[in-house]
Amino acid sequence: FSTGAPITATLFPGDGIGPEIAESVKQIFTAAQIPIDWEEHFVGKEVDPRTQSFLTWESLESVRRNKVGLKGPMATPIGKGHRSLNLTLRKELNLYANVRPCFSLPGYKTRYDDVDLVTIRENTEGEYSGLEHQVVRGVVESIKIITRQASLRVAEHAFQYAKAHGRKRVSAIHKANIMQKTDGLFLKCCREVAEKYPEIVYEEVVIDNCCMMLVKNPALFDVLVMPNLYGDIISDLCAGLIGGLGLTPSCNIGEGGIALAEAVHGSAPDIAGKNMANPTALLLSAVTMLRHLELNDKADQVQNAVLKTIAEGKYRTIDLGGKSSTTDFTNAICDNLGIGS
Ligand code: NAD
Repeated sequence: FSTGAPITATLFPGDGIGPEIAESVKQIFTAAQIPIDWEEHFVGKEVDPRTQSFLTWESLESVRRNKVGLKGPMATPIGKGHRSLNLTLRKELNLYANVRPCFSLPGYKTRYDDVDLVTIRENTEGEYSGLEHQVVRGVVESIKIITRQASLRVAEHAFQYAKAHGRKRVSAIHKANIMQKTDGLFLKCCREVAEKYPEIVYEEVVIDNCCMMLVKNPALFDVLVMPNLYGDIISDLCAGLIGGLGLTPSCNIGEGGIALAEAVHGSAPDIAGKNMANPTALLLSAVTMLRHLELNDKADQVQNAVLKTIAEGKYRTIDLGGKSSTTDFTNAICDNLGIGS
């Protein structure tokens, strides 16, 4: 990506609080003079037969074309005959890895001060393959699929990420003592990839032990890579270490170099339209998008302004124990961007 001309990125404001927090991102990006042109796309009102979902084909094409995007939370409409929005995005764009950086926010006190880790979740298979059936009455079966191709791909991404971000260690999280074939294959693939990166320490940690170690001393971990279901659980556990879902960003990596950043939380219907939402998770997701584009100075500028505003404590949203509206918090971040001072 060139840093000269503006870069076009797809933006899905999403539902509920989505448009409010997306507005906050747009305002801060404009204030920081970040060379991004947003191409906004909205969830349709009818099922698009080409995607079998409320997401339109044009929206998906926009991400494919731009290769970068930012997504607000989407509430999947209830009813039959269509695919979930998040599942449509994951399948159509082949978003194979979900990357969640998780670090302690200075000045926002939780039980831990020194969390600085990244979870990388395989996003396409495992228990999420949707293969469940009833064998006989009272007995059901769920099939966990692990493939060499998907395991190598996510392991490769984990090591590349570690290398690109100056990280020292990759831990593969598994339960191969029980899931000998599936998790066994996942580990075998991780080992193969690890051999290509001798400068990065590689270790294997059983998932139950990993949970215990994470809550005891999260500083023991650096980059963690794992199959789908473990990633779902561990990444939320890690969000809890630093203050909850309102703060944690993520980025989905897809085929052909696509990066679709998204806040981890949902559409928060209880506070939607009330100017109460915390835009931090979406903002930090937008920061991961900037890092993917190698706009690292701009990424640092926005991240530092967000962290400074939270650390100062004068403007904090209600979920962080403050009294500020989304708008006031956003304005405070703009003031902390260091522009014109
Ligand atoms: P939720 O994350 O929307 O809300 C859980 C709680 O956290 C609520 O009390 C909410 O007010 C609060 N919260 C969440 N984000 C916040 C923010 N940025 N600032 C302040 N408070 C915040 O979870 P839910 O209620 O289980 O789900 C609501 C809808 O969102 C559902 O339709 C669900 O399907 C959808 N959802 C979408 C995604 C996604 O698009 N990735 C993820 C999760 C849930």
